[in-house]
Amino acid sequence: MNKKITIAIDGPSGSGKSTVAKRLSKLLNILYLDTGAMYRATALKAISLGIDTLNEEKVSEFIDNIDLTIKYSEGVQHTFLDGKDVSDAIREPQVSMAASNISSLKCVRLKMVELQRKIAGQTSCVLDGRDIGSFVLPGADFKFYLTAAVSVRAERRYKELKEKGFNVDLQALQKEIEQRDYNDSHRDFAPLTQAKDAIYIDTSDLSIDEVTDKILSVIRG
Ligand code: C5P
Repeated sequence: MNKKITIAIDGPSGSGKSTVAKRLSKLLNILYLDTGAMYRATALKAISLGIDTLNEEKVSEFIDNIDLTIKYSEGVQHTFLDGKDVSDAIREPQVSMAASNISSLKCVRLKMVELQRKIAGQTSCVLDGRDIGSFVLPGADFKFYLTAAVSVRAERRYKELKEKGFNVDLQALQKEIEQRDYNDSHRDFAPLTQAKDAIYIDTSDLSIDEVTDKILSVIRG
């Protein structure tokens, strides 16, 4: 691709957006930015400081100076916090809920959005998140909103976590996903929402290849 392009993929947890975004970045040879990883790293910072992830006053004391950087090694994103690669630590199941909580704070979102816009301004990229098409990059060239039935999303997360060796309970996972969906779509500032000009794709009965092909056919016109 010669012209700089930005692709926004939003949707709830387990909708398949990160897997598809990774595929697209490879196929189109553009950068992939997993914005959820940034909220997860911020949550990890709060946890390490012993701060309640919903305590805006305490979180605002560290957020402006957070040492959070994104680096790429052979096309794979690595998330660094205070100079340390936390790419694995942020995937621990308990970080998910903490990230959901901390991401509801306006001071956190403003900081993350500033970093995300900076990265997206430099090069062609595909970003996945909750508010990319509606808030972070309203002028993105292509916008997609992926979702799936909550039971399907819970199964996908369950498989993913099991494969990584975590001991998880499917029912508890589904409950957590429902709670995160609620938090994400009900927060006051930049909630999870489908941008007016985003293409809606229900991935419940689609394979990753089918979703990727659908998106590619839109991008390639
Ligand atoms: O996508 P992932 O599950 O890794 O994101 C972790 C949490 O970060 C989500 O539950 C959501 O609350 C938050 N998030 C967000 N906005 C984004 C990306 C993630 O609020 N753009």
